Amino acid sequence: SANHCVTVDDYALRAWPLPMPSADADKEQRGHVLILGGSREMPGAAILAATAALRAGAGKLTIATGASVAQLVALALPEARVIGLAETDEGGFTEVAIGKLDPLADKVNAILIGPGMQDEAATAVLVRALLPRLEASNTSVVLDACAMRVVLGAGGKPNANVDTDAGAAFRFNVPVIVTPHAGEMAHLTGASKEDIAADPDRHAMRAAQRWNAVVALKGSRTLINAPDGARWQHQGGNVGLAISGSGDTLAGIVAGLAARGASLTQAACWGVALHARAGELLAERFGVLGYLARELPGEVPALMERFA
Ligand code: AMP
Ligand code: MG
Repeated sequence: SANHCVTVDDYALRAWPLPMPSADADKEQRGHVLILGGSREMPGAAILAATAALRAGAGKLTIATGASVAQLVALALPEARVIGLAETDEGGFTEVAIGKLDPLADKVNAILIGPGMQDEAATAVLVRALLPRLEASNTSVVLDACAMRVVLGAGGKPNANVDTDAGAAFRFNVPVIVTPHAGEMAHLTGASKEDIAADPDRHAMRAAQRWNAVVALKGSRTLINAPDGARWQHQGGNVGLAISGSGDTLAGIVAGLAARGASLTQAACWGVALHARAGELLAERFGVLGYLARELPGEVPALMERFA
């Protein structure tokens, strides 16, 4: 039985205020985000996500990125602590990274893994090793891009086909959100892109249940599904959001809101709405085509106040 689908509009946002820090809060209390991402070819994705997390109101930022780009990431984001990790040739991190992340991972409020990581196999190994270490913590986990591949079985075979129930679906044991677009959803579920397009609601709902994760299936209409069957939809933004780096900023906003203490479903609904409205504001200023992903985060602080 399908739950009613709540539309995320101005009214819904006002009725669901974000957690606010007290006036005397310190930066730890405002929320600490760890971004795990960035590689030689894509350091910018980690920078975009990290900027977005701070613009969403998180108080403290640590970036763990490839050692070859750690210095330039640090210069691009003077606000961050930057940890350099041993890299694979394909744009991932070796398992040695676990040792560097271990002292930190269960102390931060939210971890975003994936932006700018390219080595799918190494990333899946790393995520699988990291998640059990978070089970005793309150850390929220945002998985985007190739970090979502952890739901695939060994060998990378889609294992959660919603129609056949084939294979054993990977189940998360910590609070996780995954943020696939339709192409990634097809890759992860084994369904075709056409199947997903024909009934995205059902695919998102089944995947949330199978994986025990919040699933935000992105597009011009974005569907947010919780494992318990709760579901939301958001329609808005514009085609200018279909641009390199756009998803990285969304993932960063969601991680920043989660670090502030929002549940993953609240962080997803608010994050998707803020990201879309940022695109609408930029379209008014520049035109629909040609604004940049890096311009989205700067719109977020004022938008959060507008809907508070
Ligand atoms: P990604 O594909 O990971 O870079 O993410 C793209 C982001 O832009 C997602 O948040 C999508 O929901 C959003 N987006 C992509 N295309 C459109 C569109 N045509 N209209 C509105 N939003 C879009
Ligand atoms: Mg993406």
